[in-house]
Amino acid sequence: MDDFPLGRASFDPPPPAAEALWRHVTELLADERESIAGRAVSAPVDAAALRAAVEAYDFERPAAPETVIGEVADLLREATVHTTHPRYFGLFNPTPTLMGIVGETLAAAFNPQLAAWSHAPAAAEIEAHLLRFLGGRLGYPPERVAGSFTSGGAEANMTAVLLALTRAWPRYGTEGLRALPGRPVMYASAESHLAWLKIAHATGIGRDAVRLVPTTGLRMDVPDLARRLAADRAAGDLPFLVVATAGTTAAGAIDPLHELADLCGDQGLWLHADAAYGGAAALSDRLRPALSGIERADSITVDAHKWLSVPMGAGALLTTDAEGLAETFRVTTSYMPAGVPETVDPYTSSQQWSRRFMGLKLFLSLAVAGRSGYAEQLDRDAELAAGLRAKLAADGWDIVNDTPLPVVCFADPGNGTWEHHEALAARVVRGGRAWISPVRLDGRAALRACVISHRTSSADVDVLVETVDRARKVTT
Ligand SMILES: *Cc1c(COP(=O)(O)O)cnc(C)c1O
Repeated sequence: MDDFPLGRASFDPPPPAAEALWRHVTELLADERESIAGRAVSAPVDAAALRAAVEAYDFERPAAPETVIGEVADLLREATVHTTHPRYFGLFNPTPTLMGIVGETLAAAFNPQLAAWSHAPAAAEIEAHLLRFLGGRLGYPPERVAGSFTSGGAEANMTAVLLALTRAWPRYGTEGLRALPGRPVMYASAESHLAWLKIAHATGIGRDAVRLVPTTGLRMDVPDLARRLAADRAAGDLPFLVVATAGTTAAGAIDPLHELADLCGDQGLWLHADAAYGGAAALSDRLRPALSGIERADSITVDAHKWLSVPMGAGALLTTDAEGLAETFRVTTSYMPAGVPETVDPYTSSQQWSRRFMGLKLFLSLAVAGRSGYAEQLDRDAELAAGLRAKLAADGWDIVNDTPLPVVCFADPGNGTWEHHEALAARVVRGGRAWISPVRLDGRAALRACVISHRTSSADVDVLVETVDRARKVTT
């Protein structure tokens, strides 16, 4: 690549140089795909050496792109937990689809500005169509679906809280929390994703306003919730929101959606379904019944960058309350282009203003795989997890969660301590052949393995079983 221009000319090199660079990148990615399964899922990192290697770049002089790309790829190979490895049985981080990676590239290259519909009509309509599709699969009437693509589940959940507050107290938006006649409080299960605490902090209701309701079988205990609601009301607090988690982060548990919808309906409370991970199940006819009742939620969070296997970040907030969303994010300024009739400007239905075209990676993945291709993959993950559960049980592990989703939590009946399970997970991770994590469920220590990569095969599941069995033998 001797003719690749450096300096300012590198911003937009002539086509032959650009093509040579792209070829270099695709070769690197092909090599990565071929070699990943044979390498460790993760390896210990010397933080000081890593920082020194990065700081060697002082940016004073230009450098050849293949040198820089090669060095960065080496750093990424050495100092990353490889979520794209077939034996990454970790958190909800997928191996991205190739179409998802292509979507990221096209989105970056066209760089549409999604704040105003009139600046990016094609991108805005693609995203709006995807939201209607996802909402439709989740049971909303598609024509009533409003929402926005978000950076991830945390932003989508934050949007739900802003929306619920604005709907409960229109004055919240203009005069703030001080205009409220009391303290707003919200409810989520003790197994929920604790981004709720940061969100409570940021929205001004305060972390103490998040009531963590105990669980039975890792699902929210609805009678307990009802008692807390009554007690809080009696104490003068103002309940406004209940969060149903549809696929908990630790165990893939799904809160009782219909019971929560009944209770929220009776009490006039906003029901939000946090299906950041589990929402993907709606694409499979076999798994979708597990989400029954989610269509009764006022709003739903779904992350495309989890089980829908697109690159980070892409979440979505869905609601049937278009008006509430518009009220939450309304603003007009002279410098923004005027609205176009029959369209929604994304900056008036989202916390973000300038925004990346996040939906494209999902659009391309879905269009090429088809909904049926996704369903096949989701069902396959669920089957691999069922196989994993059976093998672990046969080898004497206690299976401690019960979910149709591919999250398997298991404990050593011989030693139930947290320290023991932490040591087991650490031993597995140190060995590099697989990646799992320790987890606490309702106070009980366990190990957690999630099947989420389309690269994972039943042979990889067997390696995981072998690896944890061996770790148990040598860890006391
Ligand atoms: C991952 C997750 C979140 C947070 O989503 P991000 O995409 O990481 O911001 C929230 N809730 C649940 C249930 C999750 O699994």
